[in-house]
Amino acid sequence: MTRGLPPQFGSDNYAGICPEAWRALEAANHGHAPGYGGDDWTRAALDAIRHAFETDCEVFFVFNGTAANSLALAQLCRSTDAIVCHAMAHVNVDECGAPEFMSGGAKLVTIDTPHAKLTPEAVIAKAVAPRDEHSSRPRALSITQATELGTIYRPDELAALCDVAHERGMRVQMDGARFANAVAAQHATPAELSWRAGVDVLCLGGTKNGLPAGEAVLFFDRDLADEFARRRKQAGQLASKMRFVSAPWVGVLAHGAWLRHAAHANAMAARLAEGLAGMGEAHLLAPVEANGVFVDLPKHAIDALHANGWRFYAFIGDTGVRFMCAWDTTAESVDRLLGDLREALASSAR
Ligand SMILES: *Cc1c(COP(=O)(O)O)cnc(C)c1O
Repeated sequence: MTRGLPPQFGSDNYAGICPEAWRALEAANHGHAPGYGGDDWTRAALDAIRHAFETDCEVFFVFNGTAANSLALAQLCRSTDAIVCHAMAHVNVDECGAPEFMSGGAKLVTIDTPHAKLTPEAVIAKAVAPRDEHSSRPRALSITQATELGTIYRPDELAALCDVAHERGMRVQMDGARFANAVAAQHATPAELSWRAGVDVLCLGGTKNGLPAGEAVLFFDRDLADEFARRRKQAGQLASKMRFVSAPWVGVLAHGAWLRHAAHANAMAARLAEGLAGMGEAHLLAPVEANGVFVDLPKHAIDALHANGWRFYAFIGDTGVRFMCAWDTTAESVDRLLGDLREALASSAR
């Protein structure tokens, strides 16, 4: 077996398991415990999440973000309803139709506002009441925090979006694959960035924060969680040896590691953005507010970085690339990437 790649910027899921999660897994691996969540680790993880969010929410663990998002949205919508989201939303472009499939046919209605951020005005324009039986009824608003372009919503921005949605009879679901990064990026608590702003259901990311696998679905309005346990089971998302999904959450939540890791990843993205700022041919595609840097680069520079062994995605047009930083991204690797890029840009100038 290989010893793994050197640090990369492909995705925050390239990183391994953080030490806190790893130690909790090891600690959970003693003796026998009841399956399907009837164990002490799962109880502790649920308590830790409720403590972090300062509320007695219903919490369900699932294996991944696609399941969390699509099952949460299916819980809010009938097959005849519509889900309003950004055009770049993971639920729209990266889940192979899972929200539509799990909801039995709910329609995704997309909005293409700048920097992957929804605005109340755009939601008002799109979430129109259907005139009759020929069109779907907007029933859920899906907000990604941090967004698919590495920007974040502030509490007041979230509250404005949630108000608009609620006034129209919609519920608000948040794709929080990088929720920790959004919390770490601003002086706001997990509660202020979720239920206090009006979010009804949060899909809280664990994988990209340093867990081996797993996301948590938080229902702040407990009535909305009715029969969700069966929906999770039906979708094949109920872990039999649940303690190995839940224990890592205890590890990262116990002493704030989840936010420390997120803050570190954000700091590495800021370092990268600072380095890019001095390069005339690098143009940021969005403000760098969390752990992702989205930048337009000359095609030859992208090719040169790839040839140097760097792994990252170029998926925004032909020359828009994404560099993601993780809990274990080192300043040294950021500087090495910047050095290689500087060299690539200089060599073409000659
Ligand atoms: C990674 C990611 C998810 C989760 O994806 P899975 O691969 O299904 O775990 C969800 N939303 C966003 C914005 C993501 O980046």
